[in-house]
Amino acid sequence: MAKCETCGNDYDKAFQIVHEGTTRTFDSFECAIQALAPTCAHCGTRVIGHGCEADGTIYCCAHCATHAGVRGIDDRV
Ligand SMILES: [Zn+2]
Ligand SMILES: [Zn+2]
Repeated sequence: MAKCETCGNDYDKAFQIVHEGTTRTFDSFECAIQALAPTCAHCGTRVIGHGCEADGTIYCCAHCATHAGVRGIDDRV
């Protein structure tokens, strides 16, 4: 049995994710997202998809990156 590190649930179908060299245990993707997903530097939304990374900062979309002053990023190329 493995315990979810986000909510503490002891669940027989828990799974592990290796994140930056550390093995983390979760009972659901929701808990994994809560623990691991970055947040958009502009609007605070959890970035679950690819997002946009500019100069080491993560944004949920090009719109937010552009609002934060990043140039040369566009969703619709
Ligand atoms: Zn959990
Ligand atoms: Zn955003």
